[in-house]
Amino acid sequence: MDYKPIDSKDLEFFRSWVEPNRFSTGESNLTLHSRDESLHGPHVPEAVLWPLEAGEVSEALKYCNARRIPVTGWGVGSSLEGNPLPVAGGLVMNFSRMNRILEVRSGDFQADLEPGVVYKDLNERLRHEGLFFPPDPGASATIGGMIANNASGTRTVHYGSTRDYVLQLEIVLADGQIICIGTRASKSSSGYDLVNLFVGSEGTLGLFVKATIKLVGYPGEYSAAVVSFESVKAAGQTVFEIMRAGMDPAALELLDKASVELLNREVNFGLPPNPALLMEFHGPDRKYLGEVIELVKEMAEENGGREFSSGLGREERDRIWHARHKIGEITNRVHPGTKRMILDVAVPAGAFPEMIALSEKTIKDIGLPGYIVSHAGDGNLHVVVLGKQGDPKEWAAIDELNDTIVRRALELGGTATGEHGVGLGKRGFMKLEHRDALEWMQKIKRLFDPHGILNPGKIF
Ligand SMILES: Cc1cc2nc3c(=O)[nH]c(=O)nc-3n(C[C@H](O)[C@H](O)[C@H](O)COP(=O)(O)OP(=O)(O)OC[C@H]3O[C@@H](n4cnc5c(N)ncnc54)[C@H](O)[C@@H]3O)c2cc1C
Repeated sequence: MDYKPIDSKDLEFFRSWVEPNRFSTGESNLTLHSRDESLHGPHVPEAVLWPLEAGEVSEALKYCNARRIPVTGWGVGSSLEGNPLPVAGGLVMNFSRMNRILEVRSGDFQADLEPGVVYKDLNERLRHEGLFFPPDPGASATIGGMIANNASGTRTVHYGSTRDYVLQLEIVLADGQIICIGTRASKSSSGYDLVNLFVGSEGTLGLFVKATIKLVGYPGEYSAAVVSFESVKAAGQTVFEIMRAGMDPAALELLDKASVELLNREVNFGLPPNPALLMEFHGPDRKYLGEVIELVKEMAEENGGREFSSGLGREERDRIWHARHKIGEITNRVHPGTKRMILDVAVPAGAFPEMIALSEKTIKDIGLPGYIVSHAGDGNLHVVVLGKQGDPKEWAAIDELNDTIVRRALELGGTATGEHGVGLGKRGFMKLEHRDALEWMQKIKRLFDPHGILNPGKIF
């Protein structure tokens, strides 16, 4: 695709209707939008626009489409695969000021949101209504960015990913047309499911300006537990057994020995220096949860699980999950001068023990700092490996590790990305994963965005 750089005529156009504090070509603003949380970049845009309403997004897209100027959506840039990086320059559309919670219909368990709402702020507001929006990527992500990446997190094993919560979307298409897709009904057989097409499309098909999402009620009771194992294989096998027995955990996370030791050192995690499972169960009452926990304890102990600790109070439970969410940040801090690669494969439940064992072996083989952090209950695992910046030998080894693990995940019927999206990092595996279907995805892209102005260079 041939794109046109932003010129003085384009600047004049934007400045004719956007206040100066919402349209910038200043170096610091451009730099801020040149990197996300991945190892990719920098890719510097030519201008940044902070829209306040759908009409402005439409106006900007209509203009950019006619002038072949690339447009890339931006939430808070917390992506881990380069998803919002403006690789072809052009305009970044930062949605952080379209951040109103438009309506909460607690009787319908639904909310209408602008795309820049940060999900943590939404949950804070919903707390008083006894409701919440379960997907929790950990970072302070926006609803628009979560929908575009189909984000998920620690609670996905029970509650599902962002995809499961999107009912209706208002979207501005590449040519500026505004359409509304989906329904507020909880089920529908009406026509093609465009909502599911747009969720996970990484801003390549259209830009969201409003979303109607589903909410759920707080559980009656919850119970958190932790248990240590001699090996990640034994922990992985226990995960498989918990899932096979239908224990329905609300969170089931696996940390390898290196991750537990890191948290012990950095945040006084206080677990034995061994691989561990962190779990949470939700249910109607304490008696039910007590029975579930007892069964899970037996399963863990049969696989050599030790120091099973359950019935953790709210404070202890929050401390554990807070520490778990901090791992990414801590790895950066304790390995100065390095960059981190975060692998994000997901496999069917039965293949999980093999994947976790393979990940452990490949980290050991390359001898670089590495951590396994896994949303184990849904077969999603992250391998975090750190290599010295600008060291070709270390990065060749990391690329090979990435290749080995992703290819094996695909052979086992899994996916190259469980939740971080394709962005720049996973494009190379798309043909292998989707085979002939990839061509149909490209046809869909061309149908919605014939001039390829929306987030160019991503997914394909
Ligand atoms: C410490 C840390 C932990 C994380 N843990 C997880 C995790 O457990 N699970 C997980 O899934 N992710 C995780 N992430 C990744 C990240 O938080 C998610 O991918 C999140 O969905 C990105 O949201 P964002 O608002 O930052 O969007 P951005 O990164 O700004 O953008 C994401 C994508 O959305 C597009 N976009 C943004 N706004 C719109 C819009 N209005 N319309 C259309 N497209 C739009 C962008 O172009 C881009 O393609 C983590 C990140 C960090 C830094």
